[in-house]
Amino acid sequence: MTELVLETYGRVCWLQLPGCTKLATTKDHVIPHDHGGPDTLENYRPACKHCNSKRQDRVLTGYGASVVVVIGPPAAGKTTWILERAKPGDVMIDMDRIARALMPVLPDATHEYPDHVRHVAISARKAAIRRATRLRERVTVWLIHALPPAEDLAEYRAFGWHIETIDPGRAVVEERTRTMRPAAQMQQVDRWYAEHPEHLAPSMVDYVPAGAQLAADASPDW
Ligand SMILES: [Zn+2]
Repeated sequence: MTELVLETYGRVCWLQLPGCTKLATTKDHVIPHDHGGPDTLENYRPACKHCNSKRQDRVLTGYGASVVVVIGPPAAGKTTWILERAKPGDVMIDMDRIARALMPVLPDATHEYPDHVRHVAISARKAAIRRATRLRERVTVWLIHALPPAEDLAEYRAFGWHIETIDPGRAVVEERTRTMRPAAQMQQVDRWYAEHPEHLAPSMVDYVPAGAQLAADASPDW
C-alpha cells in the first residue's frame, strides 16, 4: 500500500512540518485511524518519516475539531475576543484560567501567580493542547499562544489551523499592561512590537511570520 500511495501522490511529503526531509517514504492518514479514518488509498497521503511521527493523530483543518490559535501581546483582549465567539461545547486553552483553576485561594490580581503554580499550569496546558488538538468532535478549540516561536507557528500553519492576531495597538496595550498586569509583562509587550512593527498602529490584521528573529529567544510559551 505504501508503494501505491507514493506512486499515486508522488514522493513529496504532504505535511511539510518544521524539520521535514521532504522525501516521503511512509503513508499518513488524512483522517486519523482513531477518528475512524479508513485504511484506503483515498485516506492516505505520502509523508516523510519525521513529519509522520511528529503529527501523530493531530487534526488537520476540515476534519475533526477546528483549531484557532489566538496570538497577540499581553492585555490585547484575546480571551474577550474568544468569549464573544465561542459556542457551548468548545474548548478554550488559556494559561491564566488554568493557573487560576489550580489555586484554592485566589490572589486578588489576575495573571499573577507564584512560580510553582506556573510550572503546574504549564504542564496542564501542554496536556490540554495535546488532547484537544486530537478531538474528533466538530467543535472549535481556541488556543491562546501569545508569542509563539516561529517553529510552532510553522507547525500550526502546516496543520491548516487558523491563526488570529489580536492587537489593538501599542498605546492601548501599554496602558492596559501598566494598570492591569504584573510589571514583568511589559517585556513581552516590547518583544511583541519588536517582532511586529506593522502592529504599532491600531489594527487587526492577519499574522505575517516575522521569521528567524522569533525563533531564537526563549519565550514564555503562552
Ligand atoms: Zn515531512
